[in-house]
Amino acid sequence: GVETKIGNEMLDELRMTIRGDVLTPEDPGYAGVRSAYNAMYPGRPSLVVRPSGTADVISAINFARENGLLVAVRGGGHSVAGLSSVDGGLLLDLARMNGVDVDPEARTVRVQGGALIGDMDHETQAFGLVAPSGVVSDTGVAGLTLGGGEGWVRRQYGLAIDNLLSAQVVCADGQVRTASADSNPDLFWAIRGGGGNFGVVTSFTFQCRPVGPTVAFAGVFHPVEDAENVYRQFRDWAATVPDEISALIGCTTLPASEHTPPQIHNVPMIVTGAVYSGDPEEGMKIIQPLRDIGTPLADISGPLPFVGVQTAFDEFFRRGTLRSYWKSTFVEDLTDPILDIIVAKARNRPHDRVFVIAFLMGGAINRVGATDTAYSERSAKWMVSIDGNWEDAADDDKVISWVRGAWGEVHEHGTGSLYLNFNSVADEAVTVGVESAFGSNLERLAAIKTTYDPDNFFRLNNNITPGA
Ligand code: FAD
Repeated sequence: GVETKIGNEMLDELRMTIRGDVLTPEDPGYAGVRSAYNAMYPGRPSLVVRPSGTADVISAINFARENGLLVAVRGGGHSVAGLSSVDGGLLLDLARMNGVDVDPEARTVRVQGGALIGDMDHETQAFGLVAPSGVVSDTGVAGLTLGGGEGWVRRQYGLAIDNLLSAQVVCADGQVRTASADSNPDLFWAIRGGGGNFGVVTSFTFQCRPVGPTVAFAGVFHPVEDAENVYRQFRDWAATVPDEISALIGCTTLPASEHTPPQIHNVPMIVTGAVYSGDPEEGMKIIQPLRDIGTPLADISGPLPFVGVQTAFDEFFRRGTLRSYWKSTFVEDLTDPILDIIVAKARNRPHDRVFVIAFLMGGAINRVGATDTAYSERSAKWMVSIDGNWEDAADDDKVISWVRGAWGEVHEHGTGSLYLNFNSVADEAVTVGVESAFGSNLERLAAIKTTYDPDNFFRLNNNITPGA
């Protein structure tokens, strides 16, 4: 990597303004910085700043701008695309800013920019509330939200951005702005899907929803041999369910774990999963048909604490352990030709930890207009994500080319759009994904980018080039 030389005098000056940590590779604390999720892109920053709050973020941004440093902004560090760090430049790691403050009267939660989903759920569930997010608790609220954010209550309550009331943003000029319906509404529109292009979000305020403490959960595992049948029956069930159900179907092979039944250890299988966000008893009835499909290897369905569901998959996604290359696409429906492709891919994966997942979308997500937020895919019923995960660098080419091939076949049947949070960039031009993801919203995004970041200071992201 490129080492940017930062003089001691400059560093001393920065240290005087920062209450949090300022770390160079020589500092003992440098090695203790929380690692990035994607093991392919650990990064080697010349400087790490771990701000204690917004004031430090302002200082760090001003310092980086004045000294021409390339900045990586890290919320939770789960960037699939490998955008959680930087070689040479400044890593602004928000890990210390993980405060979460629930207002139970207003049913809102204010979450700092470095909080993880697990930090947020822990606090909101104490009040029987949830702010819609994602399905692995170690993911950052920030990156997830800025790209959209889809989790287990998405069909009833929408994406994370659909519950965002306001955000505090430190822009490239070092100014702090509030983004909400009333304050800088263009910025508010842009950060709901437009990623890290517009500044560092130091806090998000979300509308919470009453969910839990217990929800009906379906988790059923089938032998891959029964894939055709399981996929078709799952699809037909999904067409009938109310919005309280959010669901997915995928294929994978999971390693042995004390938390999963031995019948599924190291066995290629089809997994069906669902959550009902209303009354658990009612929910168990609605998921019953899923449990009646075929002859499962194992069925771990039942009423579960919401936080248990949110952490159920954590152990299979430990940060810094897997190399990742994912690509996603939206499809109107899981038609037979699409299912045929998916089933063929399910049977022929290049590595155990490669997933092919179909997420049931629709419901509340699709009741928001395509131009109401920067995130524009508001009509597709399904998202298909081809998630390449593997351990050995020697397998990079094999898995990456397989994922691209599988994705290409499904994408041909897709809406043309994709989910940037499930999209790797690797050696590809980032803008290809950006054009597909934003469609006709891209032009407006570029104009807003020009207003708030004309010099493209924030560019380690799914980058929107400032408009002409
Ligand atoms: P980071 O790497 O910290 O951030 C990613 C990018 O977001 C950064 O490059 C930066 O551009 C920007 N960013 C981060 N924080 C800030 C900030 N405070 N201000 C401004 N910009 C910022 N997505 C879903 O929607 N639903 C899921 O269920 C889901 N599950 C996942 C499970 C795993 C195991 C993984 C690896 C990813 C998952 N994702 C999911 C995708 C996830 O939403 C994205 O990878 C997201 O970018 C992660 O955010 P982060 O803050 O953890 O990552």
